[in-house]
Amino acid sequence: MHQTSVLVIGAGLGGIAAAAHLARRGMRVTVLEKNPHPGGRCDRFVREGHTFDTGPTLFIMPHVFEDEFAALGCALHDRLDLQRVDPSYRLVFDDGSRLELTSDPGSMRDQLEAIQPGSFTGYQRYIEEGHLHYDLAMERLVNRDFRSAGQFFNLRNLPLAFSLKPFAHHYSHMAAFFESPRLKAVFTLQDMYMGLNPFEAPATFSMMPYTEMAHGVWYPKGGMYRVVEALTEIARQAGVEFAWDTSVRRIRVAGGRAAGVELEDGQFLAADAVLANADLPYVYQNLLPPEHEADALAHKRYSCSVISFFWGVDKIYPQLGPHTLFLADDIRENFAEIDRQLSIPANPSLYVHAPARLDAAMAPAGEETLTAIIPVGHMHACEEQDWKELMQQARQAIFRRLALVGVSDLAEHIKFETCFTPLSWRRRYNLVNGATHGLSHNLLQLGYFRPHNRHARWHNLYFVGASTHPGTGMPTALVSGRLTAQRMSEEL
Ligand SMILES: Cc1cc2nc3c(=O)[nH]c(=O)nc-3n(C[C@H](O)[C@H](O)[C@H](O)COP(=O)(O)OP(=O)(O)OC[C@H]3O[C@@H](n4cnc5c(N)ncnc54)[C@H](O)[C@@H]3O)c2cc1C
Repeated sequence: MHQTSVLVIGAGLGGIAAAAHLARRGMRVTVLEKNPHPGGRCDRFVREGHTFDTGPTLFIMPHVFEDEFAALGCALHDRLDLQRVDPSYRLVFDDGSRLELTSDPGSMRDQLEAIQPGSFTGYQRYIEEGHLHYDLAMERLVNRDFRSAGQFFNLRNLPLAFSLKPFAHHYSHMAAFFESPRLKAVFTLQDMYMGLNPFEAPATFSMMPYTEMAHGVWYPKGGMYRVVEALTEIARQAGVEFAWDTSVRRIRVAGGRAAGVELEDGQFLAADAVLANADLPYVYQNLLPPEHEADALAHKRYSCSVISFFWGVDKIYPQLGPHTLFLADDIRENFAEIDRQLSIPANPSLYVHAPARLDAAMAPAGEETLTAIIPVGHMHACEEQDWKELMQQARQAIFRRLALVGVSDLAEHIKFETCFTPLSWRRRYNLVNGATHGLSHNLLQLGYFRPHNRHARWHNLYFVGASTHPGTGMPTALVSGRLTAQRMSEEL
């Protein structure tokens, strides 16, 4: 009997998950990855005993991981040793005052009331709304795909236009719950992790602070890359083959179908179907023959990017929690500079991750592994930005901010530095415009409006990952993998 063969372009989380599902359904699956190892954006490097997760650092929606691992025939807790991070973040404001987000309601009450008297009830109402948004959005928008307009625009979904508040901007909607600009910022900052601006994001995204507060932020022992290792192992056990350092140059299409792929060395590999996990706009613009859709994608909105510093440090800074967020008071100006000027804000918010606080093995004894991340505009399509200069500005901003928590001698204790700018994100993973989260998640690029998991013309060419349905994030990549594999097994 003919065994259906599938070539997967890219070993990101979505690609690996889809490959494992397809292999479990009896298909012959080969994953072609340009880099020497799997993971894509969920990457890692180790230097002088310091282990850096260079992409995701927040393991959220643990039950989604549980479900997705179960759908692959595995128990999540057999594969990963997870611990809850509580308080999830330490927030530091411009004047040095702090707020710790914790699952302890008593502590939340005390801290919120100190910032704005009466705000705890607003918080409870907000979390309740987030709960509703989360349940509805997960069931009706995330955990399913939209193969036709009728599956999205129908009477059953009509109430979502009201209940999910998609037409309200997230930040303005916060006025219904809080007066304090700081609290409005604290409970919309999660949009930033999706590369979104809360002044434009739909209020639907209150589902993100809800899930963080209700289901927690977690950490796998050994670091976030353990997720990649666990999934790759599952895929291998299902029979998936991986080829590293194997860059695809072109998807060959003929007779209304994808015939296979051409590699950089000119070799042609034939297959019954091709599944692209590389960033979807990159695939249209670089791997497929020129077509209208490639131009249309160039004009879509892209998520912001980040400048990330990875520092091996020869001392410990106990004032830093595992996740410390320095939140600027002028966040409106911050987002305007990121989104419109595609630059770095004058007084940027920033995030610092100290993984050794959660797992001592992430740094040598008595030392610190630090990652500091500043959101910046993505690469301009036509003008060159001066990333060297922006990198210097980012470094200075980080040192200034760290002094707020008493870390004032960091520059003297850095043993080595690695820095990623949007240029690095593009070069390493082929992300269009170096946008770390791919296509943006604004209203007109979500649900049915997000590029679909199958090509409109070449029906044996499929897509999985952050710039296709359902969108960015580690758990979402696994959902995308399952949904696409399901569709492929029905259609091939
Ligand atoms: C800085 C940063 C922080 C993040 N933080 C979080 C977080 O805390 N929590 C969270 O849940 N999510 C987070 N995310 C998002 C999450 O990492 C991504 O949404 C997810 O990993 C994307 O997976 P993907 O399936 O789209 O594949 P990708 O990661 O995009 O992988 C695609 C793969 O395709 C390969 N490829 C590209 N072109 C070719 C080619 N021509 N030939 C062969 N291979 C090719 C690439 O090398 C890559 O390995 C973060 C992302 C970034 C960048």
